[in-house]
Amino acid sequence: MSVWAQPQQLKEVRGYVRVVAEDAIEWRHRCGWRNDVVVCDLHVDLASRKLASLKVEEPAETKKEKLKEAPKEVTEELVADEDFEDFPSDEAQHVNLVFIGHVDAGKSTIGGQILYLTGSVDERTIQKYEREAKDKSRESWYMAYIMDTNEEERAKGITVEVGRAYFETAKRRYTILDAPGHKNYVPNMISGASQADIGVLVISARKGEFETGFERGGQTREHAQLAKTLGVGKLVVVVNKMDEPSVQWSKERYDEIEKKMGPFLRSCGYNTKKDVQYIPISGLQGINMKTRMTPDICPWWNGQSLFEVLDGLQLVERDPKGPVRLPIIDKYKDMGTVVMGKIESGNIRRGQTLMVMPNKAVVKVLTIIRNNDEIERARPGENLRVRLSNIEEEDISPGFILSSIKRPISVVNEFDAQLQILDLLDHKAIFTAGYKAVLHIHAVVEECEILKLLVQIDPKTKKRMKRPVLFVKTGAIVECRIQVAQVICVELFKDFPQLGRFTLRDEGKTVAIGKVIGLEGASSSA
Ligand code: GDP
Repeated sequence: MSVWAQPQQLKEVRGYVRVVAEDAIEWRHRCGWRNDVVVCDLHVDLASRKLASLKVEEPAETKKEKLKEAPKEVTEELVADEDFEDFPSDEAQHVNLVFIGHVDAGKSTIGGQILYLTGSVDERTIQKYEREAKDKSRESWYMAYIMDTNEEERAKGITVEVGRAYFETAKRRYTILDAPGHKNYVPNMISGASQADIGVLVISARKGEFETGFERGGQTREHAQLAKTLGVGKLVVVVNKMDEPSVQWSKERYDEIEKKMGPFLRSCGYNTKKDVQYIPISGLQGINMKTRMTPDICPWWNGQSLFEVLDGLQLVERDPKGPVRLPIIDKYKDMGTVVMGKIESGNIRRGQTLMVMPNKAVVKVLTIIRNNDEIERARPGENLRVRLSNIEEEDISPGFILSSIKRPISVVNEFDAQLQILDLLDHKAIFTAGYKAVLHIHAVVEECEILKLLVQIDPKTKKRMKRPVLFVKTGAIVECRIQVAQVICVELFKDFPQLGRFTLRDEGKTVAIGKVIGLEGASSSA
């Protein structure tokens, strides 16, 4: 069945949708699920970036009905096929980077420059981009072009999708998840940050720009807060545009930024001594990035270069012997069904039998692709594309998990959580049972409702308060039960922080951050 809807319904439909513009340019747009709506075509007027029309197709069978099907029989043989053994590897460690920060801080430029400096793009391509940028009177944007690969983004100079790029240093292999800075794109940033090991928070030192990004409503604050919630444990604060005429490598400006960021990052939960490092650079000129800068450029800096800082950060070890967990962030058809995502735990190998959750679809790993190379096995932390048998592309959605059969991930439509209420909307300033929001957890985006508040926590003493709680306001910490419109895969925060921490967003704003503390509503186990 197809339904044509009016443009203003865009906000209502949150799904992983295909966006087809009027002039047939097509790109993808990530949103969440809404009830049983699965596929939509959005017709977008490119000039105004407004939605012209929207076609929503309801699938013949809904996800829920599918789940009612008896799960495929999980035989001894299938389970025995899993292995929880580690394998020796002399490969450089793989690290995911997410670039965060206010629009125009220089994230794409830095990303492009890194690819250039590591030889991941050649001189000819750079020259081509330089010419293209010039033709559009956007000369200074050419480095960003390397990251912002679609036409529409180039024309506007904004990175819309979470672009991906790969580079290697002497010590490590990196994937850059270039997060967009524009306010409307925070949901994409969440999907990038949910997979990142290191956050590169880009700050513009240019006069006035640091201030705008850091003010209330600027993205510097929101991004840094979200990154911490999403599990980005290490932050490199890159003070960019140090070459700019209003800055000229001024120590005073650099110190001012560092001084203002410190208390704020501490309030986000970062240990600023252990987890945060600052560094001055020029992304546009590639200064202090691959190699240390010399005193003639900046006499007062005797610290490391950006690459040295990145290579030196201590990272959390992932468990190669743990149960397989690969949150699926995207999927497509290519000689079968290919899913994309990062392995959070466990090893996977070609030929292995696994299960896609929450469908409980038993699948076989046909091919493992890493940066266009096929590999036999992969360890946790790797970004992969995995070709699967026995499953149709339509049966997978972002947020599903490629999981171990023996130790499957929990599937819930209700769970208990501890929430920290950050900043409620002015017209919805009371948080109580019945509150509806959008839940972002690993790659899941799903509508949810607060069923009941359980207990309030004293923000100072962290003790549970005795009196019953009916509602709370901004600043409160509260435990509550949350119901989601569709079943989702989660883990307890204490067992698996990456799959147990989440944000609640309402009308495009992050209103609360939370962790999963109880799985009473869990219906899984194979
Ligand atoms: P993003 O929105 O954070 O990805 O920012 P972009 O990478 O698109 O950069 C925004 C603008 O800042 C562009 O005009 C860049 O050329 C400029 N820019 C970025 N890095 C630097 C830098 O290090 N120095 C100077 N002077 N300009 C920069």
